[in-house]
Amino acid sequence: MTELLKCCRCRWVGIKAELRSVPNPKDCAMSHNVCPRCGCKSFTDAQEPKNG
Ligand SMILES: [Zn+2]
Repeated sequence: MTELLKCCRCRWVGIKAELRSVPNPKDCAMSHNVCPRCGCKSFTDAQEPKNG
């Protein structure tokens, strides 16, 4: 089952692969994933909508 993430700020919902990877200003070797819409770094789990 695909794990869905929901942005805490703009409520964008998507999978982890859709997140935008941005480099860490402190350590270029590291990067973190942010919301592709608003750039927020906080996400909550979002369950897939049930049909029916
Ligand atoms: Zn967002």
